[in-house]
Amino acid sequence: MATLFIPLTVMPTVLKIAVPVPMHRLFDYLPPAGTKLETVTPGVRVEVPFGRRRKQGILLEITDTSDIAPERLREACRIIDTTPLLSGTDLRLMRWASHYYHHPIGEAMSAALAAVLRKGESAEPETRRRLFATGFPHPDTLANLRRAPRQRELFIRLQQSANGLAANDLVTPATDFSGPARALISKGLADWRETAQKPFPPDPAATHHPQIGGDSACPPLTLNAGQAHAVATVTAALGNYQAFLLEGVTGSGKTEVYLRLTQEVLTRGGQVMILLPEINLTPQLEARFRARFNAPIATFHSALADGVRRRAWLSMQRGESAILLGTRSAAFTPAKSLGLIILDEEHDSSFKQQEGFRFSARDVAVMRARLADVPILLGSATPSLESLHNVQLGRYRLLDLPYRAGNAAKPRFQVLDIRAQRLNEGISAQLAGHIKDTLARGEQALLFVNRRGYAPTLICHDCGWVAPCRHCDTHLVIHARDQRLRCHHCGLEQPIPAACPDCGKTTLQPLGLGTERVEAVLNDLFPEARVARIDRDSTRRKGSLERLLKEIHAGHINLLIGTQMLAKGHHFPGVTLAGILDVDAGLYSTDFRAGERTAQLIIQVAGRAGREEKPGTVILQTRHPGHPLLLPLVRNGYPDFARACLLERQSAGLPPYTHQALWRADALDSRVAQRFLDDVATHAASLGETTVLVLGPVPAPLARRGNRYRWQLLLQSDRRSSLHALLDRLIPAASGWELARKVRWSVDVDPVDLY
Ligand code: ADP
Ligand code: ZN
Ligand code: ZN
Repeated sequence: MATLFIPLTVMPTVLKIAVPVPMHRLFDYLPPAGTKLETVTPGVRVEVPFGRRRKQGILLEITDTSDIAPERLREACRIIDTTPLLSGTDLRLMRWASHYYHHPIGEAMSAALAAVLRKGESAEPETRRRLFATGFPHPDTLANLRRAPRQRELFIRLQQSANGLAANDLVTPATDFSGPARALISKGLADWRETAQKPFPPDPAATHHPQIGGDSACPPLTLNAGQAHAVATVTAALGNYQAFLLEGVTGSGKTEVYLRLTQEVLTRGGQVMILLPEINLTPQLEARFRARFNAPIATFHSALADGVRRRAWLSMQRGESAILLGTRSAAFTPAKSLGLIILDEEHDSSFKQQEGFRFSARDVAVMRARLADVPILLGSATPSLESLHNVQLGRYRLLDLPYRAGNAAKPRFQVLDIRAQRLNEGISAQLAGHIKDTLARGEQALLFVNRRGYAPTLICHDCGWVAPCRHCDTHLVIHARDQRLRCHHCGLEQPIPAACPDCGKTTLQPLGLGTERVEAVLNDLFPEARVARIDRDSTRRKGSLERLLKEIHAGHINLLIGTQMLAKGHHFPGVTLAGILDVDAGLYSTDFRAGERTAQLIIQVAGRAGREEKPGTVILQTRHPGHPLLLPLVRNGYPDFARACLLERQSAGLPPYTHQALWRADALDSRVAQRFLDDVATHAASLGETTVLVLGPVPAPLARRGNRYRWQLLLQSDRRSSLHALLDRLIPAASGWELARKVRWSVDVDPVDLY
């Protein structure tokens, strides 16, 4: 009689590791020989053999199960960290984000780690060096530094800082004091010293922190009723999750609310994370926070040097920094004792990452607040329809600041019908008249143009030829200043031709308006005025935006022209006239969000006008003065517009009432990309998920870019769970297809741009 013999294999301890590779799974490894497992916690980095190379992964779980036979498991090379870099909450957030955005867990994880940590460098504390002014200040010292204003500025700052300055205080996007620091050291005026880390929490009473280069000190203001209510309500929620939407008109004092709440959290020993859409806004907010708090503030965004970001990241993770100011990429920065998240300009689409890991920093931040059990405050003058919808559903609590703080009155809107008008390079006689009056009163005017460059393209008046891009389905933009034609999509550049390449005539003319062209005509019309242009071209060089802003504030500029950049969050107290040259471009677009975006833009531009005692006027040039969107907006304001717009979305079955994912594919051969998405659509249909609408594939709005043909497939459902269930089955299936390797493809959950 045979005895049944079941081999008893004891499964060894298995490390489940997120490895940064484009695969939707964890990888199993054995611990390195001799590892004391009691000392290993999820959240540490682990170096593992991967194929023939080594990679840095993050340990997510320690288990004793694996789908791989024990003898085939490989051993990890080494455990890099002694203490975990990511906490349990951080890991849960990352797993949620990876799952929700259908992005490979290992790649999502590495997005959470500052670039430098991904390379496996040590995260151990460095010696804490701080720069101090040395010796007794001699009265002659400052005089001797007269010729070196930046050294002088730094020296004054060092003298005023009892704790010296850390290396990362020396380098900010606005200023880089590392050169002046070296010079002062070589002159014996400053020196590095090892110090104990500054105690945290900071002393909230120390509100006057000397400020060089920024505004003057920033004492707390007496809150008005709306502000006091907002502060009290969020304060009462500290310690628990609750999402708030602070809908406050521009100039209503949202920033003061942020400052007060930050103070509340700091006094309780918590850390505050503040997220902004734009790098350009961080130095301004940073200056206001530094002026108010004598607390360590870390800034984090993609324009900072790796070393600076690494220190910022670690200082939040260890609880050494009290405040983190950052952009989208900061949303995952760990914090030891997070007390509150504030996200300003929450409607801004820059919070959505448009490539790779396509997450929404706003939605990640809300989930993070929920997991960390802290409140989150989303602020905007023009909230997104998504957030307003969440208020209607009772998920977010609305706090509103309907009035401008202080003395500023609301701006007056004037819709200018330009149908029968002769325009001078886009500017009507009436608008020119308003500008003239504004300048005569010694006030500033601001004009918004939605395109940079001189003109969107070059046209031949004889045969109709329009300068095309060889590689994209788009036109080349004229850049008059450097006499070039440029493609804003692929970067192609060429000289401006003297004659039409098609018919040979010299009847080439610029078509449409860009910021450079408006700048030129304003210089012509108002030769006495000093004109500044603010767009991506004029601010490309580091520090140039700050310089321009300084000149504007000092009143050296009379006329400002700019793109989106001007509309966002900047304070221009002297501006009393704001004009939008062409409102129609935004009103008539194929994107269903165009109306919402245009309304937000109009209100944001309007928000720049008349912020102090002088009332502001906003002029909107349009050929559609009766547009159903424009009238409610200028008559009744954004909240009314938004509510009407929401009803429209609801009846059209569009987000936020439905949920979307956009599956994109591109290839050198258009048919290949199309066929891949056809297969996705067919497979989706075969899965029988009838509550998900599969629309397409269709060519992308920009159907060819950089010689690649782009197609897209839209998946839409009124049930989020159905959409995600379908994606959960589609993505692994499609990943295995042969065609999947012949196209570039991606899935964008909650896309904000259907391009
Ligand atoms: P927002 O961020 O909502 O656009 P800010 O916070 O920048 O507005 O405030 C706009 C202006 O109003 C600032 O100059 C600020 O100093 C001022 N302000 C804010 N709150 C008050 C207040 N309670 N009393 C007086 N002035 C205030
Ligand atoms: Zn021609
Ligand atoms: Zn191109």
